[in-house]
Amino acid sequence: MTTAWSNWSGWVKAWPQALPTPASEDELSKTVASAAAPIRVAGRGHSFTPIVASQGTIISLQKLSGVLDHDPEALTARIKAGTSIRDLGPELFERGLALLNQGDIDRQAIAGAVGTGTHGTGAGIGSLSSAVKGFRLVTASGEVLTCSATENSDVFDAGRVSIGSLGVMSEITMQCRAPYALAESGGRMPIEDALAQVTSLRDKHRHFEFFWFPFAREAIVKFLDEVPGTPKPRRRRPDGEDSRDDKLFRTLCNVAIVAPFLRGPLQRFITSNSGSRYSSGSLTGGGHMRWSHDAFPSDRNVRFNEMEYAVPAERGPDCVRDVGAYIRSCGINNMFPIEYRYVAADDAWLSPFYQRDSVTISVHQYHRQPYDTLFAGIEAIFRRYDGRPHWGKLHTLTYDDLAAVYPRFEDFVALRQRLDPEGKFLNPHLRALFTKD
Ligand SMILES: Cc1cc2nc3c(=O)[nH]c(=O)nc-3n(C[C@H](O)[C@H](O)[C@H](O)COP(=O)(O)OP(=O)(O)OC[C@H]3O[C@@H](n4cnc5c(N)ncnc54)[C@H](O)[C@@H]3O)c2cc1C
Repeated sequence: MTTAWSNWSGWVKAWPQALPTPASEDELSKTVASAAAPIRVAGRGHSFTPIVASQGTIISLQKLSGVLDHDPEALTARIKAGTSIRDLGPELFERGLALLNQGDIDRQAIAGAVGTGTHGTGAGIGSLSSAVKGFRLVTASGEVLTCSATENSDVFDAGRVSIGSLGVMSEITMQCRAPYALAESGGRMPIEDALAQVTSLRDKHRHFEFFWFPFAREAIVKFLDEVPGTPKPRRRRPDGEDSRDDKLFRTLCNVAIVAPFLRGPLQRFITSNSGSRYSSGSLTGGGHMRWSHDAFPSDRNVRFNEMEYAVPAERGPDCVRDVGAYIRSCGINNMFPIEYRYVAADDAWLSPFYQRDSVTISVHQYHRQPYDTLFAGIEAIFRRYDGRPHWGKLHTLTYDDLAAVYPRFEDFVALRQRLDPEGKFLNPHLRALFTKD
């Protein structure tokens, strides 16, 4: 009997022959050596692309969780690959450590987040993958490779962003720093003012991003800045428990399905109810001060599908203007804001930020609505701006397209072929990415 597997949005489903849950590296290596192909490893299923789906084997590392040890001098931690970022925050904090940055949510497994180049925002701050100092990788034969800048360095450069196509990571060593508190501020700001000032806002704040409903004239800017202090731990809502805002937003999304002509007024309504107007030069908004692992994540209870591309940082404002204009003119119902963030360049071969300071632009569609036509129009814009797709978010690129935008793509493919000559880790989606026909 098979068990079903589904991703977070519910659009990717799979019925693998087996869903093993190894509890040690040794067990993992025996599982990989003998399991039915395609072998895929799941983090927490928060990717929108079918990178985990398999009719063969889907390995879950939920039992490989926790911090193995840490180096108080180098400020690094060895973390079991299945550890969720949510569990990791307090564990690192107890050891006098914190991650350098995080994304919007903390539900992902650390290896799942690293595998797709998951990122937050911040000038000069890279993705989670860029903070990887080393990892242990179980390859197709069951052999375990230790990888770092000095050991198996080619696998290290290829493997930091590799969507589980080289093997299964059993542990990851992350660069951390001492714990730090962040204060949140921001509010509404005319979109053209925000775009005119993006570089100064980016440079003035440790973390700057904005959300923009394209039918509204104002964006909602958000800043997180490091502050002295010892905040209390944040009380987190239990899994899946909706806030009042979640309930309202879901209702508005459902209303817009049956009355799409309301999407403009509803977007303006949400914007005008989203915090005070940002007054230039001061930190307004009355946001909280929290430890970093409590400050970064939000709850995302209204489900959606998402596309995100990274474009050269200096082209971000023009690109987001074009995306907004397209959403306004295409006639397709859409109730989510565009998200605009900064990520620093790195050197992982398949990183969307490879040797390029970038702006990431994300578009979302409510999970009860099809996304194909909307995303196809937006993807054409991203591609005109030399965009590179987020590996965990929807895109339609295949081998030749990817070779054109990732300078080390062919090197990656050659190394992948060497480590996994029989293609054990390739499901149909990955086969279209990494093989020519
Ligand atoms: C609500 C929501 C918010 C999000 N916010 C952000 C954000 O702010 N920033 C951002 O960049 N992304 C964001 N994402 C995307 C998400 O971070 C990525 O898709 C991430 O990869 C999901 O992590 P996961 O643990 O669920 O991994 P999965 O989706 O389960 O897997 C991701 C990839 O990692 C591989 N993998 C997992 N474990 C291992 C392992 N042990 N060894 C090797 N490979 C492995 C898998 O095979 C797969 O290819 C968001 C997604 C959602 C649904």
